[in-house]
Amino acid sequence: MRKETHLVFAAVVGYATVELLSLFGVVHMPGYFERAVCIVLSMVGALFPDKIEKPKTFRHRGFFHSILFLACVVFLIYAFRDSVYFAAFGCGYASHLLTDYGTKRRLPLY
Ligand SMILES: [Zn+2]
Repeated sequence: MRKETHLVFAAVVGYATVELLSLFGVVHMPGYFERAVCIVLSMVGALFPDKIEKPKTFRHRGFFHSILFLACVVFLIYAFRDSVYFAAFGCGYASHLLTDYGTKRRLPLY
């Protein structure tokens, strides 16, 4: 999947993360600056999987692109849900894996 697609999807996910966490009272209502930081962190998180496992070949998806690692990311988001910044970064990372999962090649299990 293209980098631009990951970035757009991650920006939406980052904004939704902040709004949902504040809506459900997990974090206090963040200001505009905190929201902007969360969107940027989510976009950085979405770029991370391809920085770790560079897409030089068609079969670049290894452990850090796997469903097992996605489960680890979801667990870490839950464990550190008090930090809206960590949640935004983790959700951005997860958004990358979910959008890659939507491609024809899917993701490896581990
Ligand atoms: Zn990828």
